[in-house]
Amino acid sequence: MKLEDFVKGKANLAGLIGNPVSHTFSPYIFNTLSKIFGCGLVYLPFGIDDPKRLGIVVKALKELSIVGFNVTIPYKQQIIGYIDGIDEEAESIGAVNTVTLIDGRFYGTNTDITGFIKAFHKQTGCGFGGKTVAVLGAGGASRAIVQAIAGEGAGKINIINRTYDKACEIEKQVNQRYGDIAEAFGLSSGIAPEIISSGDIIVNTTPLGMHGFEDISPLPDGVSLRKGMIVYDTVYRPLKTALLNDAESAGCITAGGVGMLVYQAVAAFELWTGIKAASDDIAGGIMEALINELGRS
Ligand code: NAP
Repeated sequence: MKLEDFVKGKANLAGLIGNPVSHTFSPYIFNTLSKIFGCGLVYLPFGIDDPKRLGIVVKALKELSIVGFNVTIPYKQQIIGYIDGIDEEAESIGAVNTVTLIDGRFYGTNTDITGFIKAFHKQTGCGFGGKTVAVLGAGGASRAIVQAIAGEGAGKINIINRTYDKACEIEKQVNQRYGDIAEAFGLSSGIAPEIISSGDIIVNTTPLGMHGFEDISPLPDGVSLRKGMIVYDTVYRPLKTALLNDAESAGCITAGGVGMLVYQAVAAFELWTGIKAASDDIAGGIMEALINELGRS
């Protein structure tokens, strides 16, 4: 953006709310998209360290006619109480990561769902139809991903989590909508390693492996990875986690969360601007640039 665009009021504001937001790569992705399409979108992170201020910030963003904003940890659930509407998918998973201003009203959606699916296809060249998938973790990312995988026609989804009850909640929610395809397991249950080993695809949605948990694999002891299995880690920093290293050594097809990060952002950009930006060249180019950036940091 040129300074004169701000002065002449040609710049449109978008942003991210959460805590912390200081290490986010979202401004890089959105401001790159804005530059590519010359649409004048300026994306800024807004840290909210006191949850009591969430309502005031949302009101201020509306007053400023922000085009839209993303929501990250810890406000993906809480934000629902401060916006005017929410789509069916975001409602069924109980989490919003993208809010769009339409005719003066804020509408919430969850682009992690489409973002994950697009990234998975792009990065692995594979789909979920008829496959048996083990999803590790049962937090916000897991909710969106299990929903996405069910919508893609997976044969069976096994949700394995440290807290068994949280996996059961997702099982119930998904089975209500898609029939009996999901089953919950406790991470420490004796059967978990066999359930994970016998499937076609493993998706990690826990933070294990990320910055601060490096060298820790989310897999319980006794899991055997095999050639041809697909292993997707939603963690993107570091680019190669302990899980991805183990999977690569075992001959699995592997992919990291940088793709999901880019494609969920591209989906939000499309909602806010109406510009179709998900072409392979553009999203793939941003993904490559981000991989280079992360590789250096
Ligand atoms: P969350 O709601 O806090 O859920 C975290 C999940 O991980 C919970 O199920 C938790 O189990 C489990 N977990 C945490 N620490 C664990 C440990 N030491 N051992 C075993 N399980 C553990 O977080 P979230 O929003 O789902 O995000 C999770 C991760 O997904 C993030 O850290 C990030 O790396 C990744 N993510 C990536 C993208 C992307 O665009 N690439 C987007 C969203 C998230 P309990 O239920 O037992 O607590």
